[in-house]
Amino acid sequence: MAGATGARVAGKVALVTGAASPRGIGRGCVERLAEEGATVFGADVDVAAGRAGMAELAAHGLDTHFIELDVTSEVEWQAAIDTVLERAGRLDVLVNNAGVAFAASIADTSLERFRWLNGINLRGTYLGVKHAVIAMRRNDPSGGSIINLSSVAGHVGLPGYTAYCASKGGVKNLTRAAALECGAARDGIRVNSVHPGVIWTPMNEVNFSDESAARAGVDRMTPLGRLGYPRDIADGVLFLASDDASYMTGAFLTIDGGLTAA
Ligand code: NAD
Repeated sequence: MAGATGARVAGKVALVTGAASPRGIGRGCVERLAEEGATVFGADVDVAAGRAGMAELAAHGLDTHFIELDVTSEVEWQAAIDTVLERAGRLDVLVNNAGVAFAASIADTSLERFRWLNGINLRGTYLGVKHAVIAMRRNDPSGGSIINLSSVAGHVGLPGYTAYCASKGGVKNLTRAAALECGAARDGIRVNSVHPGVIWTPMNEVNFSDESAARAGVDRMTPLGRLGYPRDIADGVLFLASDDASYMTGAFLTIDGGLTAA
């Protein structure tokens, strides 16, 4: 890891949720955006890991900071965005990345578990989009880029993951409706979703008891012949955050090694 190496998002201020997981997609997005010149606030409920992770990146010369945020709480969203505005003056990029998953058949999915997952994945994304739009409309000139982490499970149904598929399908279409609203308002805010395939992070590591067998299985079923890694997703997020994507809104960027092409 080096300090800032490029300038694709230089001068922009970004907030990334779910940034604490040390080998997670959120942490990868923080690192990639900061490498390209952004000031990045990584937010998470896991205060110890989040604070340590952002400090580790800052020690390598990146402009990274930690904010405590439970994405299910509207009060905490307002406070987190107020903190970004107080400390950095503006918000240009929001990456709604915080998410959880569990495997269970529909018959075995309790209402409580369904609500818990959708509270984080869908309600958390809705709250983030809402408060980022309000903040980005205060930029002068108004504008920004909101990137919502959906999944291939937002495109297709995965048996055994009903609650997760419901949440990620919701994130995909919430994205498009919000993009249309922002377009109609001419507020310069772009809203897009990113759809990862199987990415080797703690979310997946816990589902496999035998890592090498799991890796080999995923490698076999993926057209590009390998698992994905957080940086594969972070590169797509960086593109959508940057002005290179200035004519993209309401779009979904699938980064799955070809998994859903068949
Ligand atoms: P991860 O488990 O490594 O990290 C998730 C992070 O979200 C953790 O740091 C956790 O503390 C945080 N979080 C959980 N609940 C929170 C809350 N209420 N408020 C704030 N933060 C909270 O997961 P990951 O694999 O890096 O996944 C990141 C995103 O990418 C998720 O939205 C996930 O659904 C999506 N995704 C992952 C994969 C994959 O294969 N790993 C595939 C498709 C989509």
